[in-house]
This record gives sequence, structure tokens and C-alpha cells, in this order.
Amino acid sequence: MGIAIAIDGPAASGKSSVARRVAEELGFVFVNSGAMYRAFAWRVVGKEVDANNEQAVLDLLQATQFECGEEEGVGTVVVNGVDPGEGLTSDSVNSTVSAIAAYPEVRERLVAAQRAYREHCNVVMEGRDIGSVVFADTPYKFYIDASPEVRERRRREQGIVDSIADRDRQDSSRKASPLVAVEGAIVVDSSDLNLEEVVREVLCGLKGQGLSLGAE
Ligand code: C5P
Repeated sequence: MGIAIAIDGPAASGKSSVARRVAEELGFVFVNSGAMYRAFAWRVVGKEVDANNEQAVLDLLQATQFECGEEEGVGTVVVNGVDPGEGLTSDSVNSTVSAIAAYPEVRERLVAAQRAYREHCNVVMEGRDIGSVVFADTPYKFYIDASPEVRERRRREQGIVDSIADRDRQDSSRKASPLVAVEGAIVVDSSDLNLEEVVREVLCGLKGQGLSLGAE
């Protein structure tokens, strides 16, 4: 069983870039769990299934195979033999993903795939429920936050149309595994910090918790 570092936070808080850099520093595998929910949303959109029709979504889930692997230290997801690629960040996926991520059966399938990573490697995983559910037993938990204004600005600068306020509302208010800063998580507000500063805070936090950092 490997070591898991959990990094949660709202949309566009910077947690993905931070998790990727921390994983590089430690030589762990970086896994973006949101990409798995996005991959399924991409299939829902592609099959023209109404994301608000739970039964139709669950029927499609039954007919969906996820292959979650790793390439050069980064988690990959293939759906029924196809790599969604750029499709993961399309406008239609952005506006659909939170609806399908609220269904407990969808979460159950993907949480199992997420947990499987730790069976054979050390992992830095980012998402919404990594510290609260997926790796609730890990001592290494972080919550990366940023003000709504900063997060909206980051998305605009990336040229991405993303209803992050809507997603945050849905992700925080859903019954199944809502977004929370779990007790014991180290909270880092990235609003006024650059990427390297946030990475340094996370690495310091890990060191403070006794995780020896291989490079030192
Ligand atoms: O991280 P990202 O913003 O790409 O995630 C897309 C969506 O996937 C989130 O808005 C949320 O609805 C869902 N998600 C989730 N649980 C996770 C990761 C993502 O519900 N662990």
C-alpha cells in the first residue's frame, strides 16, 4: 500500500497545478480525480443523455468501462477505449459534470478506481472529497482555497468558459461527499500566492507531519 496525499479545493483554486508540482517533487504519481468525473460527463454529453435524468445516467454508467492508468507519473483515463483528450474541458462538460458527480453510484465507481492507485503507487490526488472520503485515513490532507474573484479571473485568463460559481454551489451542497475542508486538513489560501509559494507551503506541511522528502 502506497502513501496518499490528498489535495482538495473549489474549482480554479490552483489545486491541480499544485498537486502536479508536489507529485513531481516527491516522485509520486499525480492524479486529477476531476478528470474521471469529466470523462464520464464527456460520455454522457456524447451519448446525448440528459444529465438530470438519473436513471438514464446510471444506465449509461452500467455500459461504461473506465481504464485508469498512469503515464510518466500522471494519471490517465480512457473511457470505453477512447481517450477524451481536449473533450474533458469542453463547455458542455463544464456545465454537466457537477450534475453527474452528485449521483452516489457514479461516485462509488470512480472512488473505487481512485483508491486502486494507492494499491501500487504513492499518489498525490486532487479533487473535492479526497481527504474526506477517498483517502480519509491519510494524515496528509490539504485544502487549497482562493477568493471567488481570483478563481473567476484565473479561468478567464485561461480562456475557459466555466460556470465555477454554479459548480461550487452544486459541489458544496450535494448530499453525497460534498466539498468540505475536512478537519485536520492544512488550509492554504492561494489568492495572493504564486504557484511555487503554495507548493512550498504544502511541502513544508508534509515535512511538519514527518513525511520525509526524498530529494533532501
Ligand atoms: O477538479 P475539476 O474542477 O476538474 O472537477 C470537475 C468536477 O468534478 C467538479 O466540479 C465536481 O463536480 C466533480 N468532482 C467531484 N469529486 C472529485 C473531483 C471532482 O465531485 N473528487
